[in-house]
Amino acid sequence: MSTEELLVRVDQTRCVGTGQCARTAPDDLALGPNGRAYPRNPHATDRDLLTEAAELCPVEALSVHLAATGEQIAPAD
Ligand code: SF4
Repeated sequence: MSTEELLVRVDQTRCVGTGQCARTAPDDLALGPNGRAYPRNPHATDRDLLTEAAELCPVEALSVHLAATGEQIAPAD
């Protein structure tokens, strides 16, 4: 597993609160009191699970970036 630090972003205006991402990557994502997902870990590294979570999001509210460069790694364009 890569240990490269990742930046997880959730667009609060797009998230519809399915909770799918939080079930897929519970260490790094959770649903907040407003019913929308938020990144709970500022030092996320689980690229495989976070990529899966971003690909599963039905409204593309979740994106995963390399913390060092900001490059988006998921979802794929
Ligand atoms: S999968 Fe997408 S829509 Fe569902 S809670 Fe996560 S960010 Fe929000």
